[in-house]
Amino acid sequence: MNVVPLFTDRKEASTLWHDVINWWLDSSIKIRFVEIDDEYWFIMGSDSQRPESNFSFFKVLSKSENYERFKKGHGGEAYLRLGVYANKFLKDVKHDALCNCGHAAEDHDKSDNDLCLYEECKCKKFSTFQITLLKRKKTITDIAFLEEKNVKDDSLAWNCLNTNKFSKFV
Ligand SMILES: [Zn+2]
Ligand SMILES: [Zn+2]
Repeated sequence: MNVVPLFTDRKEASTLWHDVINWWLDSSIKIRFVEIDDEYWFIMGSDSQRPESNFSFFKVLSKSENYERFKKGHGGEAYLRLGVYANKFLKDVKHDALCNCGHAAEDHDKSDNDLCLYEECKCKKFSTFQITLLKRKKTITDIAFLEEKNVKDDSLAWNCLNTNKFSKFV
C-alpha cells in the first residue's frame, strides 16, 4: 500500500525529497500514526548518517476510510511517495473529467459560471481535486499505530508530539 503525504507546492515536495528523504535508507525510515480522538498524527522520520537530514515530518489529519483501510491492510510494508494536489477547473480539464459533484465536465455550463446541468445537483461550479504522484519511492517497513498514552515509549512520536502538540499547526 502507498503512503502519500500531500503537498500543494510541487517544488516544496521535490525539495523535501531531494534534500532529505533521498538520503534516508529505506530500512531506517519510520512512520507512526498516533490516534487522538477523531484525528491522527502522521509522523515520519529517520536516523540517517547525515545529521542535517535527521528531520521529521508530521501532519495532523482526520481519520478516514483510507486511513482505516491502510491500518488493517498494510501488512508491515508500505511505499512512500510524495503527492502534489491541485484543484482544477473547467478550463483545465477534458470533457469527460469528473467534477467533485460526480458529473462530467461536459455536463457543466460554460456560459453559466460552469454550473452543473443536472437538476438535482447542487454544484454551482466545476471543480476537481487531482493528485500527481512524484516518481521516486521508498519502501517502509517500520510502521506503528499508537495511542497517545503509549507515545512515551516511542522516541520519534514522543519528540514530535512534545515539540509540536502545543504549538500552532496549520
Ligand atoms: Zn459539478
Ligand atoms: Zn453535478
